[in-house]
Amino acid sequence: MPAHVINGKELVSSIREEIRSDAAALTAEGNQPGLVVVIVGEDPASQVYVRNKAKACDDVGIYSEVHRLPEQTTQEELIALIHTFNKNSKINGILVQSPLPKHINEETVVDEIDPAKDVDCFHPVNVGNLMIGKDGMKPCTPHGVIEILKRTGVQIAGKHAVVVGRSNIVGKPMAMLLLREHATVTVVHSRTPNMEEITKQADILVSAVGKANFIKTHHVKPGAVVIDVGINRNAEGKVTGDVDFEEVKEVASTITPVPGVVGPMTITMLLRNTVDAASRAARANVSV
Ligand code: NDP
Repeated sequence: MPAHVINGKELVSSIREEIRSDAAALTAEGNQPGLVVVIVGEDPASQVYVRNKAKACDDVGIYSEVHRLPEQTTQEELIALIHTFNKNSKINGILVQSPLPKHINEETVVDEIDPAKDVDCFHPVNVGNLMIGKDGMKPCTPHGVIEILKRTGVQIAGKHAVVVGRSNIVGKPMAMLLLREHATVTVVHSRTPNMEEITKQADILVSAVGKANFIKTHHVKPGAVVIDVGINRNAEGKVTGDVDFEEVKEVASTITPVPGVVGPMTITMLLRNTVDAASRAARANVSV
């Protein structure tokens, strides 16, 4: 039987409704959540991402600002701007769109963001909190995957989850969040020999590789849940995931198409983080 194909639109719209209601409650008490997105240079894909993020904020009632800086902006200038947002009480989330121009060190810049406003969850303090299971900022893409699993009724506890990829943005935090949900987690990467012997054991398979049609039926256990994080563009500009969807949907029990599920969920979790950051800031002000 072909897999259940997850409907991203329904999922995203119900979560955004919850976020909209939380944002409205904060706004009513004078604490409208606010997000600032900073983009340096003219990367066309980044321009689209930034526009989409601003639109998504608008949609749920989050105040947003987009700062477009020229390619030749220095690292010091960018950091000085971040410091102003750290102090700005209207701003609860600061997002620096990557990639940054080569003369700017992304890690150095991220280190300057107030961890309480680091809605991407890239700051070492937030990464550390994630590691020790402390509540707070959650990384958007992996958090989105957990929400997809939970809200489609996939049991995570006790299951074997295999994550393909070990990047700081997706693979590693994905493994951490799955562990938190009591899965048994294995991470495979480009140096893993005979990868399919491991992926074939997965009850839940999450692919974050960045290679089109990389996951084939011989990687997938019949009945597995397959989550495709990959975003790849073919020669015609068409977006595809890592998973050979047509082939794998015949074997998996549940599958996410690309585009349409993990991408929009990532933006949705950015909105969630911004509203949660605003809520924490409001509570902190009350208790002072
Ligand atoms: P990276 O390039 O940073 O990481 C890719 C990972 O895949 C690496 O750990 C690499 O292993 C592993 N890999 C590469 N080749 C193989 C192979 N042959 N076998 C096994 N593992 C392999 O990418 P990201 O993690 O940043 O992103 C992954 C994908 O997810 C991309 O397509 C990206 O566009 C997409 N993405 C989508 C998001 C969304 O919102 N939907 C958000 C973020 C990313 P090694 O470490 O050994 O090199």
